[in-house]
Amino acid sequence: MTTVMSEQNQVENPHTHVDALKDELSEARHRLNDFVAYGIGGLPVRKESMLFHEVSCMVRRPPFTRTSRRKNVLKSVDFPEGCEYDEAVVDRPLRVIPEALRQQTHSFGFNALEMTPSQMLAHWFIMFQEYDLLSKYKIHGETLRDYFLTVHNAYRTNTYHNFNHAMDVAQFAFALFANSEQLRTKLSSLDILCCLVLGLAHDMDHPGVNNAFLVKTRDPVAMLYNDQSVLENAHAASLFLMFHNKPTCNVLANVEGDEYSQARKTILRGILATDMARHFALVKEISAHQSLTEVEEVPDDVRMSLIDCIAKSGDICHLVRPWPVAKAWEDLVMEEFFEQGDYEKQLGMTPDGLFDREKCKVANSQCWFYDNMGKPLFKALEHHVPTTAATLLDVMQANVSKWKEMC
Ligand SMILES: [Zn+2]
Repeated sequence: MTTVMSEQNQVENPHTHVDALKDELSEARHRLNDFVAYGIGGLPVRKESMLFHEVSCMVRRPPFTRTSRRKNVLKSVDFPEGCEYDEAVVDRPLRVIPEALRQQTHSFGFNALEMTPSQMLAHWFIMFQEYDLLSKYKIHGETLRDYFLTVHNAYRTNTYHNFNHAMDVAQFAFALFANSEQLRTKLSSLDILCCLVLGLAHDMDHPGVNNAFLVKTRDPVAMLYNDQSVLENAHAASLFLMFHNKPTCNVLANVEGDEYSQARKTILRGILATDMARHFALVKEISAHQSLTEVEEVPDDVRMSLIDCIAKSGDICHLVRPWPVAKAWEDLVMEEFFEQGDYEKQLGMTPDGLFDREKCKVANSQCWFYDNMGKPLFKALEHHVPTTAATLLDVMQANVSKWKEMC
């Protein structure tokens, strides 16, 4: 059905077909320019083969199944007014930080939605400086800035899965540490570093459609990862290939030996944990562990589960942002779903109800998500960090009440 519809469209709409080919060519050119930094789906092969693979995928893919969007490429990024940066200062290169900016970085009321790259860069540096991560892991200020820039350029201009969402997730992880002494004292600096790195990178190169779509349309990336956590595997592989291919942005370059192995394992696990298909298993696992409040030394399995939980709660942290911010993110995520639904209809497919703008009851689906996905996850977090999570659950309750008024 899909193929028949696509072929009909191609025959009946020659202009659309030509436009789509032009679009495809321009996208290919764009991606060739930056493939040096990260490969499609993190293909684990030599650069030359990666290039060949990427080009062959793009040429063979029918034009109407193109899922990619433009990337918002920046050549450089500077700090906002009021900040003073001096790369010669090894541990705190962002020497002057306006207090209002610092407070925002620590706040659960953080609103990444309309922030400029410049503002986000300042928050990014504040997070690393707060816990001395630059000096502890010998990260040069310019490496940290290049990481920010290169990851930024790997994100596409999706309605929801864009770089602002990435910053939202990284800041939420930071705010959890900043507002919970339990986490700060019982997890390590390396854990904080991993949470920040994975938070910013966790949706790198997201195409704006979900795993089910990639599997259904037999996308080459779904084939590469055998239909298993396709996007999450691709994001994680892209991150480490980026480090491999562009050493100037490798913030883990001076993390060595066992610490490096642990960091890599933690980051990979954290990114893979953001797959919604693993949601209930993760909630069950976190709740079953002995509470962080009851242990002196945190066993490794509890530590890893907690980091998964931080990554996972960061990924849906819009549920616990203040209402106007939460509502704005939720409108965007629904719009991205509907765009996928529109695209599926264009391909002759029938979208699920949640993705169909003509059928979906947005308020009802939001209430379902809050009650069945958000609440159990933050309750599981409450088991380990009771005071912080209780505050967040209150905000969540207020937000879901707003949606319920709209049902
Ligand atoms: Zn995400």
